[in-house]
Amino acid sequence: MFFHPSMLVLIPGMILMFWAQSRVQGTYQKYSQVRSTLGMTGAQVAETILHKMGVNHVNVEPVAGQLTDHYDPSAKVVRLSEGVYYSDSLAAAAVAAHECGHVLQDVKGYMPMNLRAAVVPAANIGSNLGPFLVLAGIFTNFTGLINLGILLFAAVIAFHVVTLPVEFDASNRALAIVDNLGILRGEERTAARRVLNAAAWTYVATALYAVLNLVQLLLMRRD
Ligand SMILES: [Zn+2]
Repeated sequence: MFFHPSMLVLIPGMILMFWAQSRVQGTYQKYSQVRSTLGMTGAQVAETILHKMGVNHVNVEPVAGQLTDHYDPSAKVVRLSEGVYYSDSLAAAAVAAHECGHVLQDVKGYMPMNLRAAVVPAANIGSNLGPFLVLAGIFTNFTGLINLGILLFAAVIAFHVVTLPVEFDASNRALAIVDNLGILRGEERTAARRVLNAAAWTYVATALYAVLNLVQLLLMRRD
């Protein structure tokens, strides 16, 4: 495996990612054991929110896997992992509401969400090809290749940075809705906030790690 001393700058990012991951899993585990007062499943929470918000063109479906929950704007489908879809826990309600937050962003034409969608193709290319081009440029002593790799990788940063307002906003919308509709009550709302905050930290950690990655590529170029 290739090693360069600049790779040491990645370590704090790795630690933060590991911490955020274990925290989200711990918080999720904890509140997936606690049943909500109303006893609505994740699917029911999502369907209720969409119905009450007058969104009738979006379906709610189960999807395999853990923490695979997402909203697919092109298919107009909220996909909830089976552990959320069928569960009446506080964690399931929080996650289901969060995904509906993304639906509302879509309906309202929330700008950062469109911006993120626009950056996705470049970010996909950049995350695979960027670091490879930098390494290839270093080995062949071709600065142009290094710069192109770094430029491509900047698209990855843009994606992760613009993801932050999208995720925070979806959670804020979710918490306001479950509150307004009375889906969660009193202490239950605090639990939902904890679950969504923990999830938000994983996005912060991932964004920071991507920035450190860019710093690392720049340090490698200087050599
Ligand atoms: Zn989200």
